[in-house]
Amino acid sequence: MNSPYEYRDLIRQILETVEQRTFHLLSGTCPLEEILTSKQWPGDYIVHVIGCTTCSHRFQFSVETYHGGGGAWEVITSPSSSKAQ
Ligand SMILES: [Zn+2]
Repeated sequence: MNSPYEYRDLIRQILETVEQRTFHLLSGTCPLEEILTSKQWPGDYIVHVIGCTTCSHRFQFSVETYHGGGGAWEVITSPSSSKAQ
């Protein structure tokens, strides 16, 4: 993740998978749409947790907008582990 463009591109891809119901948004510091529509970043640190709709796969995506990038995908629940909640 090196530029805001890359980050927005990724957010767009996440939104598409949510619309296709491949993934669903579990939590986030702001709506995904806001990142694409607003001219300023909705926060210095943006975090979204996305869950797979067919298994317990969960990903966390975070980016530090203040430092200009540094976004990271991280698997927080693997499909082999039991479903939380
Ligand atoms: Zn899955």
